[in-house]
Amino acid sequence: MHAVSTVYASRIQRFRLPRVCVPLVGEDPAAMLERAESLVRDNPFMEFRLDYLSNPVGGLAKLKHFLDLHPEATAIATCRRAVNGGKFRGSAAAQLEILTKAAAAGFQLVDIELQSAEILKRTDLAELKDKVGVILSFHDFKATRKLEETFAGMKQYPADFYKVVSTATTLYDNVQMMKFLQAHSAQFEMVGLSMGEQGIISRILGVRAGSVFTFGAATRGEETAPGQVTASELRDTYRIEMVDAATQVYGVAGDPIAHSLSPIMMNAAFRRETVNAVYLALHAKTLKDLMACVHEIPLRGLSITMPYKQDIVSALSNSDPLTRQIGACNTVVRGQDGRLFGFNTDVAGVVTPLQQRMTLAGAKILLLGAGGVARAAAFGLKDRGAELFITNRTPEKAQTLARQAKAKYIKRTDVAKSNFDVIINATPVGMGANRQAPLDEKELNTRYLFDLVYVPAETKLMKMARAKNIEVIPGLEMFVQQGARQFEIWTGKPAPLAEMTFVVNKALERLAQQASPHEEEPRVPSPAARAVQADFSPRSQRVAGSAGEKKAKPVGRKAAKPAVKR
Ligand code: NAP
Repeated sequence: MHAVSTVYASRIQRFRLPRVCVPLVGEDPAAMLERAESLVRDNPFMEFRLDYLSNPVGGLAKLKHFLDLHPEATAIATCRRAVNGGKFRGSAAAQLEILTKAAAAGFQLVDIELQSAEILKRTDLAELKDKVGVILSFHDFKATRKLEETFAGMKQYPADFYKVVSTATTLYDNVQMMKFLQAHSAQFEMVGLSMGEQGIISRILGVRAGSVFTFGAATRGEETAPGQVTASELRDTYRIEMVDAATQVYGVAGDPIAHSLSPIMMNAAFRRETVNAVYLALHAKTLKDLMACVHEIPLRGLSITMPYKQDIVSALSNSDPLTRQIGACNTVVRGQDGRLFGFNTDVAGVVTPLQQRMTLAGAKILLLGAGGVARAAAFGLKDRGAELFITNRTPEKAQTLARQAKAKYIKRTDVAKSNFDVIINATPVGMGANRQAPLDEKELNTRYLFDLVYVPAETKLMKMARAKNIEVIPGLEMFVQQGARQFEIWTGKPAPLAEMTFVVNKALERLAQQASPHEEEPRVPSPAARAVQADFSPRSQRVAGSAGEKKAKPVGRKAAKPAVKR
């Protein structure tokens, strides 16, 4: 018996396990095996959820055959009881019997809940541990609380791995999980993460804090827990296999944030430039929660997006003059002493693509919109000597911005009568499923059109401009340039622009396919596409796209109300 346990011990050493385990569910063993066969090459570490099978014991013979055929696979057998959040309706004793048979079938690891261990005899668990590697697990499906207390109870039982899974309801819950893992991972083989969308970062930071492995879904749509990202994202985007205590942490903070393209772009840049860093999406429901995390997570830098670009300014120790002038910050650097410094790279995002094409001094530019991005554009363009005109759906806001940036306000009705070198769309009109344009064709009298909208990659306004032989600058260029500047501020290295552009383009193509797989079908955006569009639009101004959302109005329609003079 002991010879066997030595074999298992050597097979489950921390350094031998891949960092990502893919959970597999299936109603019958055939379906589960088919999935396992298709995944094993890229995902040799799998968890078989036997509790999803109507007859777990009956399925083990087939699973044994699979494990015999694939000695390269490391397999966990889990038969979670329904009372503990699984689907198995049998007793703890029946669960133990299934897990014992799974060990005999060749599973190297079995997962058993603390609650079952508490019901079983101590000798039962010890005997199981002699046969197979045991993961003693505890899941909290509601919150992240009493981690130490729970673990104190778990330690009473012998196990090879202690797995604690909580639910994050705030960003700070991730900090709690990290601290917990850091406190125990030197002494015990720990596995820890927080479920839920707010806990996504714990899946990467947990490993950094000492979790031996984490879980990743086989594909999108095959998640077995809320907030699970795919195994390929964990490996390819977040490079989880190389994340360690020395890995620097960066992130983009906002609400919503789940489908921001920034992690894809920035992680690709870090990979390309071989910077030992990871860039995460931080879903902060409040600025207070975000700030608590910023002080506890060893974040080196942050991208700030909606709705915190303005509010973060008061939390900064210092910022560059343009950030102070604009009153909005999209880039934070955290000093060694924890102090925060702010920059605004949206300015470079707008100005750089234009400067690559023309001299801005004296260029006649029309800016549509007076929101956050328009503010960055206005101050940046005026700073470079452009002759700037601003119009907006709410004229008063355009007038205020024009006054502050020393630009000129232009009435919407006067736009068609004028000629410009550049027209910049800094409104959300045309974004996502919104197929409108913020200007009419007769108003597009310009040499260049710069549409800051970049989802979709080609907007109606851009199509209208191309039809008039106007040179189009896509919003993607702004997205990449503002990110490139952030990369340079954080790392001091030149940003790999081609790589960043390539991965964002690919992601946009994927989104376009998801949003509209067949041209002839009505364009209903996928949840991912909707979330991306939401990322860049405050809740009050989300554009039309799905049932119940307000229809977007083109720029200037509101101006028909009281005529405000310049
Ligand atoms: P914001 O602060 O909410 O400002 C939105 C502006 O658009 C406001 O001036 C608003 O006018 C106007 N607007 C909103 N809905 C409109 C409609 N239906 N018709 C006419 N005007 C409308 O947003 P923001 O942060 O400045 O972002 C603006 C857009 O820039 C985003 O939607 C996004 O597409 C794009 N963006 C691009 C990048 C990039 O990297 N390429 C980055 C960030 C943002 P009112 O004053 O009347 O409300």
